[in-house]
Amino acid sequence: MSNKKVRVKGTLVELDGDEMTRVMWKMVKEKLLLPYLDMEIEYFDLGLPNRDKTDDRVTLEAAEAIKKHGVGVKCATITPNKDRIKEYNLKKEWPSPNGTLRAALDGTIFRSPILVNNVAPTVKAWKKPIHIGRHAYGDVYKNQEIRVEGPGKGELVFSPANGGPPVRRLIHEFKGPGILQGIHNTDDSIRKFAKACFTYALDQKVDLWFSDKDTISKTYDSRFTQIFKEESENWKTAFEQAHVSYFFTLIDDAVARVMRSEGGILWACKNYDGDVMSDMLGSAYGSLAMMSSVLVSPSGQFEYEAAHGTVQKHYYKHLKGEKTSSNPMALIFAWTGALRKRGEFDKTVDVIEFANKLERSALETVESGIMTGDLLKIALPSPNNKLVYTQEFVDAIAENLRSKID
Ligand code: NAP
Ligand code: MG
Repeated sequence: MSNKKVRVKGTLVELDGDEMTRVMWKMVKEKLLLPYLDMEIEYFDLGLPNRDKTDDRVTLEAAEAIKKHGVGVKCATITPNKDRIKEYNLKKEWPSPNGTLRAALDGTIFRSPILVNNVAPTVKAWKKPIHIGRHAYGDVYKNQEIRVEGPGKGELVFSPANGGPPVRRLIHEFKGPGILQGIHNTDDSIRKFAKACFTYALDQKVDLWFSDKDTISKTYDSRFTQIFKEESENWKTAFEQAHVSYFFTLIDDAVARVMRSEGGILWACKNYDGDVMSDMLGSAYGSLAMMSSVLVSPSGQFEYEAAHGTVQKHYYKHLKGEKTSSNPMALIFAWTGALRKRGEFDKTVDVIEFANKLERSALETVESGIMTGDLLKIALPSPNNKLVYTQEFVDAIAENLRSKID
């Protein structure tokens, strides 16, 4: 191996995480990155114990660092629930780190499947990636909820700051116990989301679809439809020149059409739809572990991560001393995405080349038949197919990478 490392000029913000992904993160760094790269990293430990210890300040500090340096790479993290409070003896149910980061960066999340030639999508019609743009602000992720204990009136109230009369809507006259939820969004955030989607679709030269449920939600969802329509006028000429188009349809119709499309589209989704649909696409393209994700802020900051969670079940096996065959592909692609973007920002061609080589090494490893359990289940049958544990998989990629670098 040549001992000259590739120098990453700008600072990379690293956000460590939890459970099995934290274990894989370390393997990826040690075997695939640190031997080849001389990089300045600003490290934030977003593992749940440290979020609890710092009263979640570490998440906000990480967001600030991404704003400052422009590029971050994040491991998956636990979003605490009641079980996790007990498991980790938490001070409180800290909010989702991804929710906090999305809100702080006011960004849009784009997700794309990682395609290999020996895993055919479950949906036969799909030939090209379906990219998903997920609105990263508001709706149920920034909600207020009330457990209604008994009879009473549930109302929606808006009090104008200029002192005008409050606007009231009766939501429900409760006769007994129930539940209430309040959600919001802002024109500003929806417009930034729309702009990001038009920009990304043009960049990737794919058609843009946007879907919501404006036939039912005649004020809330209709506002999304309206803003996308206004933006589509601004992008009309650029889209025509690039031979791509904008298309609006209802969410249920979009789901039905996507199943019959050949792909090669960017599907812009509201926050919850994007959360759900990206997991559906991830598993239909192969495995959740083959879906990459990037949060793009309107001012051009990028945070790369895997779309999957911390792979909790595998981690419990790991804790019992069992070897697991968890798939680190999306974690690797989070790093290559961040490195490539760092290279674009810093104009360091060798960093971009390194990212390309690492991606090729990872893809070729799977295509040669060496794969983790999630992929073996869905790969085209071949005598070359071989199930490996995570460490062996990373080692095989490392060997391939070494041959490209020597
Ligand atoms: P998950 O971690 O995505 O895993 C769900 C299942 O998908 C796994 O049990 C495994 O299936 C399969 N899977 C996902 N990633 C895999 C990989 N890299 N390799 C192999 N198989 C993989 O979702 P979860 O278990 O529902 O959530 C666990 C924790 O992650 C939760 O605490 C949640 O809050 C958190 N989470 C974080 C993020 C994030 O930080 N971006 C996103 C989602 C969830 P099998 O068990 O069948 O092998
Ligand atoms: Mg999800």
